[in-house]
Amino acid sequence: DENIKHNFIKTIINEDLEKGKNNGQVVTRFPPEPNGFLHMGHSKSICLNFGIGKEFNGKCNLRFDDTNPEKEEQKYIDAIIEDVHWLGFDWGETIHYASDYFHQLYDFAIELIKKNKAYVCALSAEEMRKYRGTLTEPGKDSPDRNRSVEENLKLFESMRKGEFEEGAYVLRAKIDMASPNINLRDPIIYRIKKMDHPRTGSEWCIYPMYDFTHGLSDAIEGITHSLCTLEFQDHRPLYDWILDEVSAPCHPQQIEFARMNLNFTVLSKRKLQKLVENHHVEGWDDPRLPTLAGIRRRGYTPASIRNFCNIIGVSKKESRIDVGLLEDCLRSDLNEHAPRVMGVLKPLKVTIENWPEGKTEALDAANHPQNPDMGKREVIFSREIFIEQDDFMEDAPKKFFRLAPGREVRLRYAYFITCKEVIKDDTGQITELICTYDPATRGGDSPDGRKVKGTLHWVSREGSVPAEINLYDRLFLNEDPEADTDDFTKNLNPESLVVLKNSRVEKSLVNAVPEKAYQFERTGYFCTDSKESSPDKLVFNRAVTLRDTWAK
Ligand code: ATP
Ligand code: MG
Ligand code: MG
Repeated sequence: DENIKHNFIKTIINEDLEKGKNNGQVVTRFPPEPNGFLHMGHSKSICLNFGIGKEFNGKCNLRFDDTNPEKEEQKYIDAIIEDVHWLGFDWGETIHYASDYFHQLYDFAIELIKKNKAYVCALSAEEMRKYRGTLTEPGKDSPDRNRSVEENLKLFESMRKGEFEEGAYVLRAKIDMASPNINLRDPIIYRIKKMDHPRTGSEWCIYPMYDFTHGLSDAIEGITHSLCTLEFQDHRPLYDWILDEVSAPCHPQQIEFARMNLNFTVLSKRKLQKLVENHHVEGWDDPRLPTLAGIRRRGYTPASIRNFCNIIGVSKKESRIDVGLLEDCLRSDLNEHAPRVMGVLKPLKVTIENWPEGKTEALDAANHPQNPDMGKREVIFSREIFIEQDDFMEDAPKKFFRLAPGREVRLRYAYFITCKEVIKDDTGQITELICTYDPATRGGDSPDGRKVKGTLHWVSREGSVPAEINLYDRLFLNEDPEADTDDFTKNLNPESLVVLKNSRVEKSLVNAVPEKAYQFERTGYFCTDSKESSPDKLVFNRAVTLRDTWAK
């Protein structure tokens, strides 16, 4: 893999290196909170942080920001580890957890109290909101702001020992209640939560807040550049204040960049969770979701996602990126690497009347038309075959270059066939075509130079097996699912999943590797579903169509 495309963060790092800052070290981190599955937005942060770590011969830590036991779970930790790994990144021996630093963080809090830079406050959440003021109005000091250091130490100790109810007290940084930046108006740095933590169990009943934890965890790990999304810009003064006030081992530099937004979907764990919990989708790894687990199951490759992140780049400006670009990145990867096979999504039976009953013939088929190194396989031809319903028209216009009564087409890798007769049931539905084949056209060319305009994919009864196929489409009907509504679930696409129950695919696919995509010639890229598919009952997911069907 190449280095990530140039961006303003790399400029800053290069300047730092020239100045000899951080002893020439570059250390970054990817710091997810384990309160949900990773989504495409996270992949931008992952590619950026791990990419920079690698490119500058430094490192990138994987750190779980696990300071809120209320919403965090081990299953999310496990999924995140799997996803980052799948995307192709390595974090060395250790996985870091903010909870590993709870003792150090507690000591830093004591240090602040001793410097008279933090105090225990008894205001209720509601009162605290009122005291905080607004953008246009300065805040008011808490009545507890001038509590003595001794008393603060004692109360904080009692908080830790579990002597108070949740909400009775909090620890606040003593900064500036008149600051134009509301984040500096004595923010809470510790709160009481009588709740077990997935990693520290019942050891603690007070937990540090994100803003207090984050910069200090960065410093403890020797992070040099702490890259985060733009919404943390207003928190940077607090990040710096904390690092300046305590005896932190170093002072990492926070740099903000714009989040990734994609159209026709939502990129927020909270919103994705709502879709999962209200059963709009079948789980965090539903192939329609923009979670890494979901699009992996759908057939996306790590390389296509890394390429996408590199193409969109890193800037300070928010924008909404067309999901079509992501799909194009997948298409170009799979076009190059996916083996070709034949699958018929909506089969129409064809009987070749001049082909002997019971006879089968193996024909060579290339696994990739442009890449002979990918080899070939055998496809079985026989008297009964299936073509796509859409590839036949009874009253076909001149320009319909597929099959119609009296017309001749090529069957890929096989023979020319001509339609002789159309058979229908009582309701007028076409149930079967009777055709003849020309034995001289084996392999797909006629010795007399006769041309046909259309080449159809097909499978034979003997050479194919039944399969169920999930056709996925965009999860939402509009580019911004949240425009004009406070309930984005109203904009869900009712046809985001269409299941085809009667498809047939080449026998060679019986042992297809889950999540490995194939090109079904003429129809799209598909992989077997890692949860539902088995050799006895194949279930395929459409990763992406061959062309962008949404393009205007
Ligand atoms: P969400 O709103 O989905 O919960 P988050 O930012 O709260 O996202 P974290 O687990 O804290 O989720 O994110 C880990 C890292 O990934 C953070 O550094 C965060 O800034 C980054 N990140 C999250 N969403 C995006 C996004 N859409 N684009 C780029 N980076 C993102
Ligand atoms: Mg977060
Ligand atoms: Mg969040």
